[in-house]
Amino acid sequence: MLETVASFDRIGEENAFAVLARATELAAKGRDIINLGIGQPDFRTPGHIVEAAVQALRDGAHGYTPAVGILPLREAVAADLHARYGVTVSPTEVMIMPGGKPTMFMSILMFGEPGIDILYPDPGFPIYRSMIEFTGARPIPVPIREENGFAFSAEETLSLITPRTRLLILNSPANPTGGVTPKAEIDKLVAGLAKWPKVAVMSDEIYDHMLYDGEKHVCLLSYPEIRDRVILLNGWSKTYAMTGWRLGYAVWPGKLYDNARKLAVNLHSCVNAAAQFAGLAALTGPQDEAEAMVAEFDRRRKVVVDGLNRLPGVSCATPKGAFYAYPNITGTGWKAKPLAAALLDEAGVAVIGGPDFGVLGEGYIRLSYANSTENIVRALERMATFLAERK
Ligand code: PLP
Repeated sequence: MLETVASFDRIGEENAFAVLARATELAAKGRDIINLGIGQPDFRTPGHIVEAAVQALRDGAHGYTPAVGILPLREAVAADLHARYGVTVSPTEVMIMPGGKPTMFMSILMFGEPGIDILYPDPGFPIYRSMIEFTGARPIPVPIREENGFAFSAEETLSLITPRTRLLILNSPANPTGGVTPKAEIDKLVAGLAKWPKVAVMSDEIYDHMLYDGEKHVCLLSYPEIRDRVILLNGWSKTYAMTGWRLGYAVWPGKLYDNARKLAVNLHSCVNAAAQFAGLAALTGPQDEAEAMVAEFDRRRKVVVDGLNRLPGVSCATPKGAFYAYPNITGTGWKAKPLAAALLDEAGVAVIGGPDFGVLGEGYIRLSYANSTENIVRALERMATFLAERK
């Protein structure tokens, strides 16, 4: 038996992919499965974006691009950030990445080692903790509490920072809760970070377009006092229904840019050239389809929250962002993971148990409402029947 280095024993996974595999397996056996598990838009990538990729291939975009991405795309990202948030970003700070995940991977690699603490949201995207453990750093969960509207608490976050802390991971709008951290709380957090100049911040803003009820996104790059230590993670996956294209971007401060460029040269050389031209069309072309997707998510959000609150023993706070509902299921008497497993196997509804997102996830399940309203309604009916029969 070959032995690999010990860090590979510590690497984690994203259970949403395991649930997707199980749901696909059951569907292949003829079961009618409604998938509210995986977090990806159920829409197709808008046609003009697909056409731009096809055209780029026809025009000969067949070779390597610069490791940091093609300049017009980096310029378009900088222009987009300026237009939406008024922040000034140079294209030389923007790097095109093969999705959002590689930015978290690289950021954590740059700061994580034994003896170091990295703070991350709990519940939160499971890859944060997985990567922190991989590097040998100590993962320090920042509690994201229902009673706080699933927002970061500046006070609690700051209280966890010590001289060992090198990186703080933020995520708003958030997966899995749909929580949005209010500007006043981010202001307080940024003010408190003045005491900790060695702490870098990786701000995962992949859901920044998905906001409801008039919420406004706060881009962390808009704080000049910490601008030189903010890494921005964003991309096309969620906004333009492009999860399979593997296209994202990062804004890296100072020497982190060159670190990331060298990692890219060592790892993937560059992002798929045609996908980069698609990303350019997405940012510079019409936004109506992307906006229509958000409007549709908003309609479904109301259906799912309303339906969940009618289920016995379930209460669901109204999420303000992303496309997830994160109901509290403690009143059902079920533990979250057995409930998720039974809902899939017995009721044919795929959801994710809260513990897959952290230790504070017990008592919750995550439903992605990136599925048709019809399927959401059917799933809620199945859940109602299941909970009535299996008290
Ligand atoms: N960050 C968060 C919070 C996510 O939920 C996801 C995907 O689910 C990602 C990053 C990864 O995005 P990508 O598919 O572009 O790697």
